[in-house]
Amino acid sequence: MSPAQTVPAKSYERLAGAALGTMCGDALGMPVEGWSADRIARRYGRLDRMLEGRLPAGSYTDDSQMMIAILRTLNAAGDLDPAALASRFVTTFEPSRGYGGRIYKVMNRLALGTSWDRAGTDSWGNGGAMRVGVLGAFYADDQERLLSAALDQCRITHTHPRGLAGAAAQALACGMACALGARGAEPDPQAFIAHLVDKIGPIDQHTTERLMAIPALPRGNEAVARELLTSEYACDVSAPEAVPPAIGAFLAADSAEQAIVLAVSLGGDTDTIGAMAGALAGSYWGLDALPAAWLNRLENQGAGRDHVLALCRRIMG
Ligand SMILES: [Mg+2]
Repeated sequence: MSPAQTVPAKSYERLAGAALGTMCGDALGMPVEGWSADRIARRYGRLDRMLEGRLPAGSYTDDSQMMIAILRTLNAAGDLDPAALASRFVTTFEPSRGYGGRIYKVMNRLALGTSWDRAGTDSWGNGGAMRVGVLGAFYADDQERLLSAALDQCRITHTHPRGLAGAAAQALACGMACALGARGAEPDPQAFIAHLVDKIGPIDQHTTERLMAIPALPRGNEAVARELLTSEYACDVSAPEAVPPAIGAFLAADSAEQAIVLAVSLGGDTDTIGAMAGALAGSYWGLDALPAAWLNRLENQGAGRDHVLALCRRIMG
């Protein structure tokens, strides 16, 4: 093994980057959730500032709310305990954050005592992927555990192979982004996608095909990347149409800011695609690469920005 391969991929800087990157993308996308790419561009031009939507500017939604539950579970146990996570999903459930429709049924079942591995619905929504980036950063040095933890946390709510494959792909991509960032290496898009395809193939063939459809994207050209990604993907609430464009936005970007702005500009499930691209960008470029203007604007009451940073510090302590 060369010395370069021994650099640990896991660090406070990357875990906190994944966490705050998720929150930044979530909050940036919140006001335009469900809009088309064209409508966003016509109304706001380049949407690169946090605006008020159905929640005040800088507010996060269900994506970050459930990610924080994952961080709290890691902080309490030093590992992902799915039963503990399922009960945290219930105790921190806050409908005003805007959850997907089928999650109410899952929360009710869990609250009534159904075990974590029997409460989920046969859904291929992107809910298992939207929150998982921090697990990818936490287990970045152990791909086998990363994969099993990503699947377990997904199974609590989403049990369809497409939902599971999307969560696994996003977690693996964040782990790989951490490893590349730690080595100071640029991601080679073809190799990055090939590695994901290799791991996701045994979980779900359709998702594998959708990952292989990520187009070759010129780095740093937002307009071209937006055009290519929106022609290929529905960018909706399904895992196979949301995870690949988020990965594409990361691979096409020159900076964390650009990855997140590009992801939100695709339209559709903007808060979630933004959150996933944000987790990837924060994993790769680290916490310090996230724009200060966004971090300052992020919700910071209760379980907000500083609470999340403190959780990451304790997890890594
Ligand atoms: Mg959301």
